[in-house]
Amino acid sequence: MTVKIKQDYSACIGCGACVSVCPDNWKFQGEKPKPIKTEVKEVGCNKQAADVCPVQCITIEE
Ligand code: SF4
Repeated sequence: MTVKIKQDYSACIGCGACVSVCPDNWKFQGEKPKPIKTEVKEVGCNKQAADVCPVQCITIEE
């Protein structure tokens, strides 16, 4: 099964919380982080990233 990681990039405020909890798949690219992979086999720490995001701009489709 594939898990899709989506980010509303325009809503992102660049706080870096996703990178802190999920450095495996979130990386700063300039002023804001982006997911390294937008399709993963297991949700893993992307779940935590979505939970901690203060503007809830990360969504996960399982
Ligand atoms: S936690 Fe959310 S708002 Fe903060 S940098 Fe990551 S995606 Fe952007």
